[in-house]
Amino acid sequence: MIQSQSIKSAVDLQQGLVELGAGAFYADAREPWLDRLLLLKKRSELTTLQFAKTRLIEGPTGQPEHLNLAKTPYIPFMLEVCDMEGVHIIGISACSRWGKTITGETKFLKHYAHGPSYNTLWYMQSEDDLKDYVDERVDWALRNHPMINEKINWQDPKNGRTRVQIGNSLALWRHASQKTLRGKAAPLIKVDEIDGMPRKIANAILTLVKNRQREFGSQRLAIFASHPDMAPMGGVWLIIADSQQHRWWWNCLACGQASSPCQDATMRMRWNVKKFLKLKDEMTREKLLDMVEQDTRLVCPHPECKAEFTNEDRLKMNATGAWLQNHQELGPKGEVIGEYIIRDQMGFVGHAFMSPWVNINKLARDWVAAKLTFDDTGDDTTLREENVKTLGERHEDPDGAGHVDDWKSVKARLRRNYLLKTVPPGVLFLTQFIDIQGGRFEVRVIGWDLAKRSWLIDAYAIKQWPVDVLGPNPMGAFQDIDPANRLSDWDIIEKAVLFQHYPMQQNMQMCMPIAKTIIDAVGEPGVTANARTWLANIMAREYTGEGQIIPPHLIQLIQNSNKKDGPELYGRPLVRQYADDAGMKKLAVDIRERMPLSHKIKFLIAKRMQIHDGAPGQMAIPANCPDRYVRELVSETLINDEWTPRGRNETWDGWVNCETARYCVMPDRPGLWVETPDWAKPVERSKIRAHTIEEGVEILTGDNSDQAGVSVWDRYRELNDKL
Ligand SMILES: [Zn+2]
Repeated sequence: MIQSQSIKSAVDLQQGLVELGAGAFYADAREPWLDRLLLLKKRSELTTLQFAKTRLIEGPTGQPEHLNLAKTPYIPFMLEVCDMEGVHIIGISACSRWGKTITGETKFLKHYAHGPSYNTLWYMQSEDDLKDYVDERVDWALRNHPMINEKINWQDPKNGRTRVQIGNSLALWRHASQKTLRGKAAPLIKVDEIDGMPRKIANAILTLVKNRQREFGSQRLAIFASHPDMAPMGGVWLIIADSQQHRWWWNCLACGQASSPCQDATMRMRWNVKKFLKLKDEMTREKLLDMVEQDTRLVCPHPECKAEFTNEDRLKMNATGAWLQNHQELGPKGEVIGEYIIRDQMGFVGHAFMSPWVNINKLARDWVAAKLTFDDTGDDTTLREENVKTLGERHEDPDGAGHVDDWKSVKARLRRNYLLKTVPPGVLFLTQFIDIQGGRFEVRVIGWDLAKRSWLIDAYAIKQWPVDVLGPNPMGAFQDIDPANRLSDWDIIEKAVLFQHYPMQQNMQMCMPIAKTIIDAVGEPGVTANARTWLANIMAREYTGEGQIIPPHLIQLIQNSNKKDGPELYGRPLVRQYADDAGMKKLAVDIRERMPLSHKIKFLIAKRMQIHDGAPGQMAIPANCPDRYVRELVSETLINDEWTPRGRNETWDGWVNCETARYCVMPDRPGLWVETPDWAKPVERSKIRAHTIEEGVEILTGDNSDQAGVSVWDRYRELNDKL
């Protein structure tokens, strides 16, 4: 039937084409054909992106319109990713009015229209949302794409709003519940608003998709799109965390340097609303909001630029933007530098500033209104909605206290006028923190002045140590350290860390000692007992002419408190008589342990990371500091009043705990600096005592330098760095 009709119409068509070509019609001959020609390709060759160029959407007056991909320059690449071999899960986190459902819809419609034909499952968070979505978008799309519509028998009573047979494929729309998840799988699954589902259901869908879809082999694909309501501990954020992540970058219209509006980007473009908030006591709420709506701009984050951009400017930047994976960079002409890595799981972090359908000035007005309400009432419900739904951001501490910037911004702000392992002018004394990890000691050394300015002096790990039994040739054999299970490994701290000295930048022959060493006595089972036993043993040591006496003030054991608040920020020195908390293993002598409120100290350090221009409290890092230490410094984010690490955080931890060390030194004692105290007084390099308890390992003295001036210790360290 259809065939005979099309033969008949083909004759008319031929005649019509001849006339069209001859200019018998008013229409441009190319106009009706460009789109259709694409469809003449073999079906398997038609990509989702090519289909998107012919896809129709309902226009404002109900007329079919083409999807305008030029408006959403971030969509095409996502459509390409849908077709990439080896990609099976896509996570998209974004705000409302961003187009986060377009990618999945287009992929599914392409398969309905042009095949290959697959069963599809669409999940939404609730029955009502599902109904609205099907009514408003899906039903229209199925009926208005002729190649889909002709495959559907609308008379079939089994076809309805949530189940449609389209040619050979069955399409099901379900709201996610325990019941609708049971026994369900399909090669193509689309899950919308996973963060709006109860946590149990959200997790069930994740697991279902990951496990059950495998049976469909290489054709399987699941697309999750959501606001990040549950971030970072659930929902779409979990999918993104495990994926090859993409963030949208663009080049500044003024300076040409790259930045990204997306959360957690390494150089982030933000808006200037903070400056308006400072005016809230000077004008009425209405006036302030008007001003916000009028004057909000995006600001280039590069310190030497700081150019401001209007709502329209940002769309210009958007047009030349690109999705970057974390290892990639955006070149001056908007070119992507570095290869894309294709992985099973691909994640996209979007932001409202990318969307053509929003106006940042109006967004700013709403956001500031929500912030003012929070300030007045302490209720952050609206602010949370604004962050998550309107901006597409993970909701963070609304006070801005505890805010930690991206690492490149922090790096740009910190002073960097000295080299690693040297003490620059201004530093009065040194502290260090040793973090006891499974197979390593992580050491961070921080210098201080009396105005709480601080300098990262050194950062290193000890993972292996010469096997003692080999005696005088310690470079020969190394073994992994195991501080939780081998008490003797703790002696390495005495041999190699406690008595480090660092040369003064202005006179490298003079070296500054460490005033205070903080050791975190918590870790794997065994760490606490070993820490206490080791410390008690050296404290109990009697001076016999061999070995050495370690002044008790040099070392402070700590166990950071789980509490969020309390009267003693840095804890009180608590007496410990036993190695174990059960009170079975008595120590050689009593020791002291502190329980600082690290939750609160972290706010101090986060605040100091914002300080610049040499003001009191400013932090500094060496000019040659590897970027990974700066990344560690911004690793923790305050979410729902919990400091949550993303990746390694040793330098952050080191700084936070050295703040406790700074306090313990009590550098503000009156008269203390009339004459520099011994624990801060630089000594001549040649006079640094060999602080060793065993002969033959005088690794800390300058005397052991070989001819190139590299000490045995430096070589140990180099070796450990490579592990
Ligand atoms: Zn700029």
